[in-house]
Amino acid sequence: MNERRQAIANLIKTTKLENTKIARELVSSNPLFEGESVESLRKYVGEVRKELYELALKEGLGIDAVAIPESRYEEPAQYELTGKIGILNDIHIPFHDKRALETAINYLIKYEPDILYLNGDIGDFYAESKFMRDPKYRDAIIEIRAIKQFLEFVKSKFQTIYYYEGNHERRWQNYLWQHAPELASLESLNLSSVIGADDLGIEFITNGSLVRAGKLNIIHGNEIQAGGLINVARNKLIRAFDNVIFGHHHFKDERIERSLSGQPIGAWGVGCLCGLKPEYRRINNWVHGFATVEVYNDGSIEVENKKLINYKVK
Ligand SMILES: [Zn+2]
Repeated sequence: MNERRQAIANLIKTTKLENTKIARELVSSNPLFEGESVESLRKYVGEVRKELYELALKEGLGIDAVAIPESRYEEPAQYELTGKIGILNDIHIPFHDKRALETAINYLIKYEPDILYLNGDIGDFYAESKFMRDPKYRDAIIEIRAIKQFLEFVKSKFQTIYYYEGNHERRWQNYLWQHAPELASLESLNLSSVIGADDLGIEFITNGSLVRAGKLNIIHGNEIQAGGLINVARNKLIRAFDNVIFGHHHFKDERIERSLSGQPIGAWGVGCLCGLKPEYRRINNWVHGFATVEVYNDGSIEVENKKLINYKVK
């Protein structure tokens, strides 16, 4: 918008003056319009007003709302999943439990899901961690290669795969933002590109996106900061006010309640597939597990929250 137009637009937005008064005001007090005829300027003001009005209509705003600054807010992305879904989370490659992972994948191969959903913390991203860690394990190359190998493997077994970013995947972006912000927006440095998900046709979903499978919300678990060691599922349910399945806590937990009208709602915490006694937390209440979800045509769902006891699916 040129300077003259801008000056007119400002007066339209910030005053209630009609076109002739705006023209008169500009001619008498703004050097950009000095000596102009009020009559011809009045027509120009009318044109600008019409343009602003149409713009406001297009954006669904009232004409006055045009004066409100541009918003940088962005709605989160939304995904709707249907059919049979196999869910794996918290594998923490390269600190995974090979036998637990193999057991879960074998079960899912027989289950024949339409979608394999990798629900976050699939890689540990130890090398990019901000915590004090053993330098001998801080090797991004080994880590990335192992995650790539895992993705290639699951892609050979399952056709449609989604990979949802957990808090551990987020370490990649945080590392770049902190140590190489100038490079952070390079597409080839996107995590989905680095771990080969893009090339394999695996859809990478940003943490915080809204993912629904029928009436069930699928989150990694870090999005709702309500944990605790005992009532994990209940704490999530209270915050979600909706059906929700999550990982993140490495702990199998369920809570099913009913609303006053009798509607059941549930929260399911799914176990992990990593080694159960890592050096940073030898003592914990973790358990191996994975889940299947079937979405029916009416949106109703059936969740099977599986645990592994001594590498047997229960
Ligand atoms: Zn997590």
